Amino acid sequence: MVATMPSAAPLMECETPLFVMAQRQLDEIAKEMGLPTQLHERLRYPKRSLTVTVPVRMDDGLVQTFTGYRVHHDVALGPAKGGIRFHPEVNLGEVAALAMLMTWKCALMGLPYGGAKGGIRCKPWKMSLGEQERLTRRYTSEIINLLGPDKDIPAPDMYTNEQTMAWIMDTYSINVGHTVPSVVTGKPVAIGGSLGRHEATGRGVAYCVRRAVSHAGLKSEAPSVAVQGFGNVGSIAAKQLHAHGYKVVAVSDVHGGIYNPQGLDIPRLLAYLSEMGRVTGFPQATAINNQELLATECDILVPAALGNQIREDNVDSLKCKIVVEGANGPTSPEADIYLHEKGVLVVPDILANAGGVTVSYFEWVQGLTQLFWSEEEVNDRLEQIMGRACDRVFTLSKESNLRTRMAALRLGVSTIAEAKRLRGLYP
Ligand code: GLU
Repeated sequence: MVATMPSAAPLMECETPLFVMAQRQLDEIAKEMGLPTQLHERLRYPKRSLTVTVPVRMDDGLVQTFTGYRVHHDVALGPAKGGIRFHPEVNLGEVAALAMLMTWKCALMGLPYGGAKGGIRCKPWKMSLGEQERLTRRYTSEIINLLGPDKDIPAPDMYTNEQTMAWIMDTYSINVGHTVPSVVTGKPVAIGGSLGRHEATGRGVAYCVRRAVSHAGLKSEAPSVAVQGFGNVGSIAAKQLHAHGYKVVAVSDVHGGIYNPQGLDIPRLLAYLSEMGRVTGFPQATAINNQELLATECDILVPAALGNQIREDNVDSLKCKIVVEGANGPTSPEADIYLHEKGVLVVPDILANAGGVTVSYFEWVQGLTQLFWSEEEVNDRLEQIMGRACDRVFTLSKESNLRTRMAALRLGVSTIAEAKRLRGLYP
C-alpha cells in the first residue's frame, strides 16, 4: 500500500509548532519510503501521554503547583526511554515531539528501546536544591505507574542531572520496597551509574564531528569549530575536539558568547567557567552575541543549546561547512533544506546527540547483568556504534540523494515499521 496523508487524523492537545514539525518530518519520509498509511498514521501520535500536577512546598512554606508530563511515543522495540527536562517552555507538544525523536534515535542506533520524554514546566535556576528535590520526588510519585526497568527508564535532559536521577531512583525504590537502580540511567556511579555516561553525549558529538570532517574531505590540519551552548553537551564536545587538535574559535552560553579566531584555550575556559559560572568575560576573547556565534566564520558549527535556533530568517548568515546538532531540534525544516542545497553537511540530532542514550543503554545493561565495564570499554563501544551509525546515514544519504536528516529518519522509521509489521495489531 502506498503512503498518503492520513485522512481523519485524531485531534490531540499536543499539536504545538515543535510537534507539528516532528510530524512533518515523519510525513516527508513516510511518503518517500512508501510507508503504509495506517502505520504512518499510528506513528504520527504518541502511544500514551500523562499530564500531572505536582504540588511542592517551597522554602517560604507556601505550596506551588507545577505541571509535569511523561509521554511514550512508541514501544514496539522495548521499554520507553528518554530524558526528563526542567524548563519554563516545557509543554505537552514539546515533550511529545521529543518522545517521537527518541523513538527514531533509539531505532537508528540499534538500541532495544521505544521513545519517551518527560518534563516539568518550571524555572529550575530560581529553585533551591531542596525545592528541586521535592519537585522531582513528587513528580516521580505522580508518574510512577509508567516507570520501571522493563517499562520506562528516564535519564537526564535539560536542567536535570545525576542528582535528579538519584532522587527518581530512590523515590521509585522506596515505593516498590527494594532498590531498583535500573529504573533510571545517567545516575551517579556510586549508585550504579556507568563510567563515561556523564561525558557520553559530548563525546558522541565529537565523534560525529570527526567522522563528518573525514566524510566531507575537509583538509584543514586544525578545523575550526563554533559551539552554541556550553552545558554538559557543548563543553564536553569542545574539550574533546580541542584535545584532538581542533581550533574552537567561538562558544556561547545563556549570558552571551566569546570569540577568538586563533582558538580559545578550552582547558582554561573550563576552569574559568567553573569559577565564574559563565563564559563571558573570558580574557583574550571578543564578546559576541548568539546570532553572531551562529554566523561565525568556521568549518563546523555545533548547536548544543535550545531547539529552533537555525531558521529560515537566519540560515543564510551561517558560514560553516558542517553542522553537528548537539541539541534536539535546533534546525527548522526550511533551514535544513537550505543547508542541504548549499552543500553544508548536517549531522542531524538523532544521530549527533545519540551518544547519551547509547551509554544509557550500556548503563542499563550493566545494571541488569551486575557486571560493570571500564571507562575505556564504554568509550570504545560508543565510538564503534556512533561510527557505524554515521557511516550508514552518510551512505544512504549519498546513494538515495536524501538530506542526511531524512536518511537518519528513514533508517529509524524503517526499523520501527518492520517491528510493528511483525508484531501485528492486537486484538
Ligand atoms: N536526554 C537525552 C536525549 O535526548 C538522553 C536520553 C537517555 O539517555 O535516555 O537523548
